Amino acid sequence: VPEENLLGQENEGFKLIMANFQWERLLMALGSVSAMQAVFDKTVEFVAERTAFGRPIGKFQVLRHRLADHATTIHAGRTVTYDALARFAAGEDVTKEVTMAKLITQRNAFDLIDDCLQMHGGAGYMVEYDLERAARDSRLGPIGGGTDEIMREILSKIIGL
Ligand SMILES: Cc1cc2nc3c(=O)[nH]c(=O)nc-3n(C[C@H](O)[C@H](O)[C@H](O)COP(=O)(O)OP(=O)(O)OC[C@H]3O[C@@H](n4cnc5c(N)ncnc54)[C@H](O)[C@@H]3O)c2cc1C
Repeated sequence: VPEENLLGQENEGFKLIMANFQWERLLMALGSVSAMQAVFDKTVEFVAERTAFGRPIGKFQVLRHRLADHATTIHAGRTVTYDALARFAAGEDVTKEVTMAKLITQRNAFDLIDDCLQMHGGAGYMVEYDLERAARDSRLGPIGGGTDEIMREILSKIIGL
């Protein structure tokens, strides 16, 4: 790279990439929280409207309980992510908090969206309902910006293992 095209100082590039990772991972966590919430809201609406065996499917305990779990997962993900965001905005070293935020939101988003797709039955598989797109998009989360396995490696080191 010609000297005039250097971004930052020579041999300091890795530090710049690492600093950028925190913001990238935070953005991914924030995106997943909002994706989970949007798909959850859509699903709550759907199970209240869709009837089978003479009642809205949202009255079947197995579906209600899964949605209760999903509401809890979203709240936990949002709380961890907002905490990391507030610390990041305050200029703290947030490697641990951001890593946790990414880890708790990415696989959860894919699993939650996949389950919401399942609750839509065949409609969930259709392009018109947007869920299949959300499911495909969310599959990137545990890979991009550093995989879930690497997030666990970072946390293991912070823990001192
Ligand atoms: C759609 C998409 C967009 C992307 N956009 C960008 C981008 O804009 N910029 C960019 O730089 N990169 C981008 N990436 C790359 C992404 O960051 C990498 O794919 C990701 O970090 C994983 O690296 P890898 O593919 O080389 O997998 P590998 O490192 O080969 O890993 C393969 C598997 O082995 C596991 N593994 C590897 N090492 C360990 C270990 N030490 N312990 C345990 N398990 C381990 C991984 O977790 C993974 O499951 C993108 C990827 C995708 C799919």
